[in-house]
Amino acid sequence: DLMEVCGTHTVSIFRHGIRTILPKSISLLSGPGCPVCVTAQRDIDTFIETARQEDVIVATFGDLMRVPGTYSSLQKERAKGADVQVVYSAFDALAVAEKHPDKQIVFLGVGFETTAPTVAAAVLLAKKEGIQNFLVFSALKLVIPALETLVSTPTLKIDGFMLPGHVSVVIGTKAYQEFFELHRIPCVVAGFEPVDILHAISLLVEQTAHQRPKLENAYERAVKFEGNRKAQETMGEVFETTEVPWRGLGSIPASGLALKETFKSFDAAEMLQLDVSYSTDPEGCGCGDILRGLNKPTECPLFGTACNPAHPIGPCMVSSEGTCAAYFRYQRT
Ligand code: SF4
Repeated sequence: DLMEVCGTHTVSIFRHGIRTILPKSISLLSGPGCPVCVTAQRDIDTFIETARQEDVIVATFGDLMRVPGTYSSLQKERAKGADVQVVYSAFDALAVAEKHPDKQIVFLGVGFETTAPTVAAAVLLAKKEGIQNFLVFSALKLVIPALETLVSTPTLKIDGFMLPGHVSVVIGTKAYQEFFELHRIPCVVAGFEPVDILHAISLLVEQTAHQRPKLENAYERAVKFEGNRKAQETMGEVFETTEVPWRGLGSIPASGLALKETFKSFDAAEMLQLDVSYSTDPEGCGCGDILRGLNKPTECPLFGTACNPAHPIGPCMVSSEGTCAAYFRYQRT
């Protein structure tokens, strides 16, 4: 069993029919690499409560709009009159803040190490330019602590990890060394073209077959050993690690990025102090098990019936990188 950690890999694997050409002895599990999917229900509910506040504009990536919270969604709040704007980066949200100086603009920071440097850069720019009505709700997460949680799940047996290409561009292969040395599990950084994915699978199979685990980089044209130092520094200037809850994986130490004390005036959690205590995961939804690779979407009784892209019950059916959405689109049977 090999796990593709990244949601973009999951979609690429389905789109190119890679699962259908693999021998039965190789099974691909989708992991916790869809950032919207792993966002805890309480964070989703807090985003929704944020949209309900007076004089607040919520700026969000489009994928979050339809994620069902416990009682509502950002899309429903917008239909009721909340100002929720879809943006493509934290800098777009900053532009909204400059345009509306009389409102508080709250950017919903959801993503991994690929997204975090841009969010950090936007916060630094806001500080430099004295933009005071720009806030970030950081639900940003780190990939390696999630891998740690997966390998310590007793019921889950993963023979190798296909590591995320985009995240690795930022953190470099160096970042995985400690994890690899500790667990000696085959690890290959992969790109996103079909040939990249097949190459990564072949390397993982070779390592597994010869029982010679390695940390390999099959995406050398983009991923360097050191990663992107500038991006790492920018992230490190603004954020510090903290324990945060993940959907399906529970609370993981040092797996989230919180704004450092010097940037607290940009921290939506600190400034708005919204305390949401009513959150419950959608009834019957097995997203948590899917994100840990324990189940496939087709094992969920709601898949394709009560839950489908037009009426999603859990986030894995909403996000373009969600495993349930990918299964529905490409492999319904
Ligand atoms: Fe949740 Fe729907 Fe996926 Fe079932 S099919 S796990 S209800 S998102």
